[in-house]
Amino acid sequence: MAFDLENLVRDNIKHLVPYSSARSEFGGEASIFLDANENAFGSPIGNDLSRYPDPNQSDLKERLSQIIGVARKQIFVGNGSDEAIDLLIRVFCRPGVDEILICPPTYGMYEIAAATNDVAVRRIPLTEKFDLDAKATLGATTNVTKIIFVCSPNNPTGNSLSRRAVLDVVHEFDGIVVVDEAYIHYATERSFVEELDANPNLVILQTFSKAWGLAGLRVGLAFASTQIVEYLNKVKPPYNIGRIAQDLTVKALDFRENFNKNIAETIRGREFLANNLPRFRFVKNVYPSDANFLLVKVSDAGGLYKVLLDEKIVVRNRNNVTLCEGCLRITVGTSEENRALMQALEKYETSSIY
Ligand SMILES: *Cc1c(COP(=O)(O)O)cnc(C)c1O
Repeated sequence: MAFDLENLVRDNIKHLVPYSSARSEFGGEASIFLDANENAFGSPIGNDLSRYPDPNQSDLKERLSQIIGVARKQIFVGNGSDEAIDLLIRVFCRPGVDEILICPPTYGMYEIAAATNDVAVRRIPLTEKFDLDAKATLGATTNVTKIIFVCSPNNPTGNSLSRRAVLDVVHEFDGIVVVDEAYIHYATERSFVEELDANPNLVILQTFSKAWGLAGLRVGLAFASTQIVEYLNKVKPPYNIGRIAQDLTVKALDFRENFNKNIAETIRGREFLANNLPRFRFVKNVYPSDANFLLVKVSDAGGLYKVLLDEKIVVRNRNNVTLCEGCLRITVGTSEENRALMQALEKYETSSIY
């Protein structure tokens, strides 16, 4: 069976008549707006936020389209990419019937979003080298598998998946394949954006939370066919992106130079840690990373985690995650933070705790 979008979308979503907001019903010129029950007197703190934001995020999409080279109609803007993950599941997966497929160890939100929507999760682990097992993944799909989520560079392992394996899955699966590129700006591997036109079942997620340094704004992106983007827009809350978030994201896009410098500095920090961590005896492995963090296998992950906390340094304990036993995930910090981490680790090595 070939890919057929209309066949994949839930019937209730196909027939849904979306909420029509005051701002989207009236798009003309006017000077007195008495249509949206907004507060004509403004807010008590006197800023200029009493009006609802643009539900279509037109300015932001226009700028993104110029910069990324994806048509405006192929861009969905979400309240973080987490919103796009949730909406994709809601558009395609019938609660209690359909399922998604994920490849652990990977980002935790895919299964949380599935569970929230009463959608089952099928798990096909990555290979020992944390690469996508295209054959096993494709072989495990059934007629109720609607979405395959892959993450490249992958969280929490840090590596990029092999392009060939991802493309095999995209080409051979009749459902939706989501490639989560939250960390793509740190990677040497190219984005899958260039594959969009040839693959109507492909959805790419990116975010302003990582390399753009705007996690506090909550702005994430999905790139897909215009038809898929239309469905996402149909189910999203009308005003899902606040005005400050829209305005500041547009503004951030003008600071490409700072963005690039910041990425280069992060990569330098990652190389510093990757080069220096292996000299500790308790470090068993530093996995290759294309992201802004390192997965590090140590002799006692739980113990080291606690020791670092005593030094006021918090890392992520991934000890209980399949294939990540004994591992901590360490985000690259500023050079001072990285040095403080190294000092704490030296202290740990010379003490007799472990
Ligand atoms: C951090 C991260 C995100 C970002 O989510 P936002 O909701 O955009 O902040 C998405 N996917 C992965 C794999 C991540 O690690």
